[in-house]
Amino acid sequence: MATWVFTEATAGGPGEPALEVLSKAASGGEAVAVYLGEASADDLAVLGAHGASTVYNLTGGGDLPAAAAAAGLADLVEREAPGAVLFAQTYTSRDVAGRLAARIDRPVIANAVDVAIDDGCTVTSEIFGGTQLVRTAFTGPGPHLVLVRPKSFSADERGGTVNRVEEYPLPDAGHAGSPQVVDTTVEQAEGPQLGSAKVIISGGRGLGSAEAYSLIESAAEPLKAATGATRAIVDAGWVPYAKQVGQTGKTVKPEVYIACGISGAMQHMVGMKDSKRIVAVNKDPEAPIFSVADLGIVGDVHQVLPKLAEALRSRS
Ligand SMILES: Cc1cc2nc3c(=O)[nH]c(=O)nc-3n(C[C@H](O)[C@H](O)[C@H](O)COP(=O)(O)OP(=O)(O)OC[C@H]3O[C@@H](n4cnc5c(N)ncnc54)[C@H](O)[C@@H]3O)c2cc1C
Repeated sequence: MATWVFTEATAGGPGEPALEVLSKAASGGEAVAVYLGEASADDLAVLGAHGASTVYNLTGGGDLPAAAAAAGLADLVEREAPGAVLFAQTYTSRDVAGRLAARIDRPVIANAVDVAIDDGCTVTSEIFGGTQLVRTAFTGPGPHLVLVRPKSFSADERGGTVNRVEEYPLPDAGHAGSPQVVDTTVEQAEGPQLGSAKVIISGGRGLGSAEAYSLIESAAEPLKAATGATRAIVDAGWVPYAKQVGQTGKTVKPEVYIACGISGAMQHMVGMKDSKRIVAVNKDPEAPIFSVADLGIVGDVHQVLPKLAEALRSRS
């Protein structure tokens, strides 16, 4: 039975988190992409390369298409009876998955970090800030609905092509589809981005002030690193939410993650603990962040960071 993967169009084509899930689905058997947005030939090539043999292209739906997408997906699911429908855990996909679950009366398991689909469907998810793994098997009838955390899999190109495309104009979702976007603010994203940078340097409350975040930016520049933050300093208004790493922020997996003045609360660690190498700077030798660090520097960020930036600049 095919595994379906809900995939959203973004400005750059199919969204990366969904491509990660699609690639994983294709590694275990037939994968079908349900693509929300007008699919261009390039989009179809990307979906095929990541393992989709069939694409259902959901078109229409307006500015806030989740309600209509869930209605259309429910129709398709009823018609085709897939074994599972996987979603990357993005805002729109979460919205669609919840609405679909209600429409077809099936449970949805969220926060998955792994999925095994054979005769059934078993989902691995993290609890207690990623310190424990729980495996949950669906026991009821399919399709099984799963939301997968970004960066759980890599978006590998498998070299395939799409054999079949069916365009599916979204139905009218009635009252559920009536909200409209009245204004949009695009936050300017400059420099390396958290989702793709090889190196990330993040700051926490240990910086002491909003102005001291410039220490993070100065060290990031010679490293070509993206800059991140804890929720504590986002809530304090020192940096925008787009920089937040953790349970209610972004999940990152860079080659190197440098945590500065960050205690290592489980809600932060769940978003960065899978980084390849972790460096921590904290004046408290007992700080929990050191339990996941490959390299720990016990010291004051106001002294360590300027020296680090200077040493890096002298090398570049
Ligand atoms: C539902 C929920 C969701 C959450 N989601 C997130 C999330 O997504 N991301 C997130 O980050 N948090 C999240 N949190 C908050 C989280 O629990 C912590 O409160 C937060 O991560 C702490 O941030 P911090 O490490 O910057 O601050 P603190 O915990 O206050 O740590 C500051 C650290 O800086 C060190 N320090 C102080 N001065 C210096 C200095 N001069 N030099 C070096 N080190 C110094 C201290 O020793 C301390 O270890 C969430 C909480 C809840 C309840």
